[in-house]
Amino acid sequence: MRLGCHLSIAKGLPKSLEMAREVKASTFQFFTRNPRGGSARNITTREIEKWKELRRNEDLYPVVGHLPYTLNLAASREETYSFAKRVLLEDLNRMEEIGAEYLVLHPGSHVNQGREKGLVKIIKALEESLLKFKGNSMLLLETMAGQGTEIGTLLDIKEIMDSLGNPDSMGVCLDTCHLFAAGYDFQKRQEVQRLIDDLETLVGLDKAKIFHLSDSKYPLGSKKDRHQFMGKGYIQKEGFLNVLKDPVFKDITFILELPVKDYLEYKGEIKLIREWLKTE
Ligand SMILES: [Zn+2]
Ligand SMILES: [Zn+2]
Repeated sequence: MRLGCHLSIAKGLPKSLEMAREVKASTFQFFTRNPRGGSARNITTREIEKWKELRRNEDLYPVVGHLPYTLNLAASREETYSFAKRVLLEDLNRMEEIGAEYLVLHPGSHVNQGREKGLVKIIKALEESLLKFKGNSMLLLETMAGQGTEIGTLLDIKEIMDSLGNPDSMGVCLDTCHLFAAGYDFQKRQEVQRLIDDLETLVGLDKAKIFHLSDSKYPLGSKKDRHQFMGKGYIQKEGFLNVLKDPVFKDITFILELPVKDYLEYKGEIKLIREWLKTE
């Protein structure tokens, strides 16, 4: 099983590789730029060369970038909208340069324009950026909790992908906390099956590449996106085991996204999951 966590690349990509090794992660995700702002750290050619050389000797796959939360491809303000389009294309190119396999995006929030208008904006933005991008990195749209005016149900994602002609450069990123908050009760096996059925009928199972793992601070269907440590929220061990042990997800990559203060806390969480899987 590919299992890893979210790490910082602030100290350089070679350093994050060391960090991944320390916590026994076989994959990792990082923010492509300041998650709440939008400024990007300059990654030099030398850093990229060193990183690529080091990665060759490491069992580290896939490497996943995550765009800032503040990016809104459904924004009504022209300035916010064009900024989002520019950053998306820039970061797709950055991922290509460093050889990151995936780039995760929160589809956007329609604010007060309504879902339809929001979807049209997102589709237009992706036409102007993703469809122009000629690299190998794949853009993954993340399933959201439905907080506020968030777009990001599997149906929303299906509509976006269909409108773009289902390009190979596009896939889906699942998130246990978001999906639970949106109403999938992982504590019940049949609810995991409902997710699988929805995936299959709406986007295709093969489109799901990454599964973010985190417990939920709020109950089922709360529509609140608040991550919690594994087993310490409402999904609990049983809920996670229903997901982790389902043969449909045996080839998906699991990435922990927890409210850690120090990345070393991920070591215990990765160990915990491995133990859960052994005892069952
Ligand atoms: Zn996310
Ligand atoms: Zn997530």
